Amino acid sequence: MRVLIAGGGVAGTVTAMALRLAGHEPVVFEAHPSGGADAGAFLTVMHNGMDALRAIDAETPVIEASFAALGVEVIAPDGTTVGSRTFDRELDGPRTLTRAALYRALQQEAERRGIAIVRGKRLVSATGNITATFQDGTTESGDVLVGADGLHSVVRTLIDPTAEPPRYTGLTIVYGYTRAEGLPAAPGVYRMFRGSRAAFGYTTAPDGATFWFARVPDAERSRAEIAAVTPEGWREFAHAAFVGDPLPCAAIVAATGDDVHGGHSYDLPATRVWSTSSMVLAGDAAHAASPAAGQGASMALEDAVVLGQCLRDLPDAPAAFAAYDRLRRARVEKLVAVSAGSDVGASQGWAYRHHLDWSARITA
Ligand SMILES: Cc1cc2nc3c(=O)[nH]c(=O)nc-3n(C[C@H](O)[C@H](O)[C@H](O)COP(=O)(O)OP(=O)(O)OC[C@H]3O[C@@H](n4cnc5c(N)ncnc54)[C@H](O)[C@@H]3O)c2cc1C
Repeated sequence: MRVLIAGGGVAGTVTAMALRLAGHEPVVFEAHPSGGADAGAFLTVMHNGMDALRAIDAETPVIEASFAALGVEVIAPDGTTVGSRTFDRELDGPRTLTRAALYRALQQEAERRGIAIVRGKRLVSATGNITATFQDGTTESGDVLVGADGLHSVVRTLIDPTAEPPRYTGLTIVYGYTRAEGLPAAPGVYRMFRGSRAAFGYTTAPDGATFWFARVPDAERSRAEIAAVTPEGWREFAHAAFVGDPLPCAAIVAATGDDVHGGHSYDLPATRVWSTSSMVLAGDAAHAASPAAGQGASMALEDAVVLGQCLRDLPDAPAAFAAYDRLRRARVEKLVAVSAGSDVGASQGWAYRHHLDWSARITA
């Protein structure tokens, strides 16, 4: 079956690899001319995400592009440590990397496996049996369309024009990277702070770079307003959220140059319809969690592998999509709900202790 995949991010590239193993013919169409959006952010692929990659032998490029995340420490506004957790090492451990590095690693691996990734192709519409139309006016035909086109998915609204749009979480997130000397080091560990107004976290990469983020309660601004904020503007915004707190957050922000990026955080609690007889959603297009649980990418990786198994084992696309919905929906919707109720929380055991076996047969 020729499968058109809209989106060459986490879900799209890995769905393509899984479908290739399942004997189908996937082609990925990525809107960006090179790589993906939100290149400023970094993330952690948790145990379950690494497990999903391992199910299709695709973990090595991600390991090579990342560093080990060892655990989490939570620090109160007065500077006392109120909790700590070491990540389970008996399972293969989680990995930290930038979103851009993750996209690059997965896209390169997909291409190495002979999968075409066509860049600069933004899907704008599609008919049911499938002719996909792109912004540049070109069209492509296939048997199935996978919407792996992220939070603001076009395929979601093609499947259900009444689908709920993403929900603003009330948080603006700022990411920064600095190599300034003299900052407190947290090698591989996420040190999370609950400041008096906002949450902050940082970790130190093996090469000494400090990766930090700030989650700041904020009124929603338009996309144009957000796009107009300069790195200096983001730095000042994050700094103001921690100044006066007896914590190192403001000092880390102040020691950062122009490698600062920001944006609002959205989630997507429940997408009623995930598929038609020839279109289906995967990853953030179907369900997006706020970043608090650190699980969005890992759940997208799981989706990709399970969707590949369903399209391998079931006789037609509608049966495959029904099984996929049955296998995935409760788990991902639980994650979105848990993440929405958390501020500096980290992935929980039920989420990361999850194993996928590529050879397991899926039944209707
Ligand atoms: C600030 C931030 C921090 C996060 N932190 C974490 C974390 O620590 N851990 C974690 O697991 N997750 C985290 N996440 C969530 C994680 O990034 C997402 O869950 C994950 O990227 C979802 O993968 P995806 O493939 O579904 O979507 P995406 O990775 O967003 O990929 C979608 C792709 O589709 C492309 N696209 C969009 N529209 C079209 C179109 N019409 N046609 C063609 N292509 C299109 C985009 O350019 C993009 O490349 C974070 C998210 C954000 C925003």
